[in-house]
Amino acid sequence: MAKVAIKKTSEIRAEYYRPNSFPTIWCPGCGIGNVVASMVRAIDTVGLKHDDTVVVTGIGCSGIIYNYLNFDAYHGIHGRAIPVAVGLKLANPRLNVIVPMGDGDSSAIGGNHLIHAARRNIDITAIVVNNSTYGNTGGQFSPLTPTGSITTTSPFGNIENSFDLCELAKGAGATYVARGATYYSRQMIDLIANGIRHKGFSLIEVISQCPVQYGRRNKLPTAVDLLKWQKENTVSVTRAKTMSPEELKGKFIIGELVNIEAPDQEYTARYERLIEKARSGGKS
Ligand code: SF4
Repeated sequence: MAKVAIKKTSEIRAEYYRPNSFPTIWCPGCGIGNVVASMVRAIDTVGLKHDDTVVVTGIGCSGIIYNYLNFDAYHGIHGRAIPVAVGLKLANPRLNVIVPMGDGDSSAIGGNHLIHAARRNIDITAIVVNNSTYGNTGGQFSPLTPTGSITTTSPFGNIENSFDLCELAKGAGATYVARGATYYSRQMIDLIANGIRHKGFSLIEVISQCPVQYGRRNKLPTAVDLLKWQKENTVSVTRAKTMSPEELKGKFIIGELVNIEAPDQEYTARYERLIEKARSGGKS
């Protein structure tokens, strides 16, 4: 098989980024840049065309991702990235619709939208940057903040149980679900690329680092501390199979969690068939 040349960083930069938008607004050590770099490498790996690809974001630190990328984009309101993405995909099923969101954006304000997009199995790629907090608004706890964490809205420790967003998406009917971490950037590229290739709703949660609003309040003040924390608190899908529920408590399982190939069950494909049926007077 012919070897595919890996593009140089300078080539990737010229093709996919908007140079005039730099430097980014993200704090030093923030993981969002790592996620964007992997997302762009994944887009390049799959070979998406600029004219067929759109990036949709909501609000928050991750909501600014669109600003640095050389793609058509829609910067929606808080929690509403998914409905915009669903509308775009329904209007033009040919589009590759990529939806980077933060943990609060996707699981709280936009949680209901995420559930129903997964249930419908519409072919959009949701990438959730999970840094355990609302960084942009001052470090409040989100539904993905680990229990016991110190945040501006839980100064004595978060008493809420956190969502397992991947399990939620799986239960709602998503046909591709994966979890990665910024510590494992090579794996993150593969997971996002597979999510983009997948015909159906795909969710890739990425455990990321926010040293400024989350880490410094939780004795993990630097990006390195948070990356070490990721290394110690993640286990691969393969290893998780050998561990007991007690051993898995508090750990994040990373890798592909669900991958069901059923392209004819994708929502826009079903919708097209419905249109055909209506056109033929309900006969086909
Ligand atoms: S507040 Fe946190 S998530 Fe937001 S840019 Fe800074 S480090 Fe990143």
